[in-house]
Amino acid sequence: MSGYLLAIDQGTTSSRAILFSSDGNIVNTAQQEFTQHFPHDGWVEHEPNDIWQTVLDCCLQVLKESGVKANELAGIGITNQRETTLVWDRKTGKPVYRAIVWQDRRTSDYCAELNAQGHEAVVNEKTGLLLDPYFSATKLRWILDNVPLAKERAEKGELAFGTVDTFLLWHLTGGDEHRTDATNASRTMLFNIHTQQWDDELLKLFDIPASLLPEVMDSAADFGVCDPELLGASVPVLGIAGDQQAALIGQACFSVGMAKATYGTGCFLILNTGDEALKSNNRLLTTVAYRLNGKVSYALEGSIFIAGAAIQWLRDGLKLLESASDSEDIARSTSVDHGVYMVPAFTGLGAPHWDPDARGALLGLTRDTGIAEVVTSGLQSVCYQTRDLLEAMANDGIQLDSLRVDGGMVANDWVLQFLADILDVEVDRPEVIETTALGAAYLAGLQAGIFDSLETVEKQWQCQQSFNPQLPGESRDKLYAGWQNAVARVRTQ
Ligand code: ADP
Repeated sequence: MSGYLLAIDQGTTSSRAILFSSDGNIVNTAQQEFTQHFPHDGWVEHEPNDIWQTVLDCCLQVLKESGVKANELAGIGITNQRETTLVWDRKTGKPVYRAIVWQDRRTSDYCAELNAQGHEAVVNEKTGLLLDPYFSATKLRWILDNVPLAKERAEKGELAFGTVDTFLLWHLTGGDEHRTDATNASRTMLFNIHTQQWDDELLKLFDIPASLLPEVMDSAADFGVCDPELLGASVPVLGIAGDQQAALIGQACFSVGMAKATYGTGCFLILNTGDEALKSNNRLLTTVAYRLNGKVSYALEGSIFIAGAAIQWLRDGLKLLESASDSEDIARSTSVDHGVYMVPAFTGLGAPHWDPDARGALLGLTRDTGIAEVVTSGLQSVCYQTRDLLEAMANDGIQLDSLRVDGGMVANDWVLQFLADILDVEVDRPEVIETTALGAAYLAGLQAGIFDSLETVEKQWQCQQSFNPQLPGESRDKLYAGWQNAVARVRTQ
């Protein structure tokens, strides 16, 4: 089998289309940003039409610029911002409300109420998630409660719910297919990750009519065929996965114990736990890594809210840097044990602390402290936070051999060396950094028969550079103890 693979990467701030050759190399990319809407404090919305139009425009642009015709595509893979919630009319496709974005906190009180009623245990048991506004269920509930007639129309079966993948598939197939994949379903808080079914008890708890829900498929599957009017040929959609799961696939982390961390604005670390839906006792999430040929692989996930954003703050807020990449030379001008700690808890602390009220701090300042120490402490904070996640995983009985990394921050060699030093784990940076889109392309390629197995995909993955721990154990322990002390100072609970 040959043919190009088109990956659609629909993210939180922009949409992208990336054309891959059948050996996994990038042929061309297109990207468009779109408007973020913040109607109230803590609310984040996207205009559904912006999501769809930017995706379509990017797809048309990559095909045009590369001179590849739609009929030369073996298939399309979709990866997307997860949890973001849309509801539309099944007949007209018209959304009843804007997309409520994963970051949106409007349902915090509702979640707190459900928590106080003691529902978190059952939600966690069935979905692997925590009762938090982040996930789709309470956002969907909000739309049904607050959009005029939405509830009545949903009960009559007139409306469809979807995460962004489902919304895009629906539009790509001219309204023919209302489907999702198991990774996206696993982020809705309505899907039982053990039975792989929408869960009646959860639907009842959140009062969601089952008629709203899409059909859940494997991550590599025949999802549907594009309306030929759109791209110029009937291209099949053959792969779907949420962005972090797609990155895990793009990093070829297919064996138990393999993990990837993506360092962008925040950081997401996902560890493949294989057949076992390992339940964390340390507030990490249990989620579907991918489902292929009906077989589910599970993952543990931890997220850090502020990673690269700490460097943005040093640059734009404190104006200590001209550009993010300057941080590398600055860090090289000082030692790692300068004694300053930055805890970038600007929006609270994520996993494994889950302390939404904590706020940031700079500790250990002396008269010698200068820009270099402050900037370096910002870079180090990202590595220490990763160690916190690895400690939580270790407490759940898991030890990593190596960590594959991607995202904008991994251009910084100093960060990756310090990361290896503080984790005492080998850190590997791949040749292709666009792991999210690559994961979507791999899924489509598997279904198209371009790759015959995960082993074939695994052979495609290439390490660009490995960073090995060099710091003596004693220094590592001392530095990390200093960090734990700093975190203890900002904790509110
Ligand atoms: P996102 O997809 O979340 O927008 P990216 O993967 O594009 O993020 O990564 C951008 C982030 O990485 C920014 O927050 C930026 O501060 C940080 N960053 C980019 N280059 C470097 C660098 N050389 N050193 C440290 N941080 C960097």
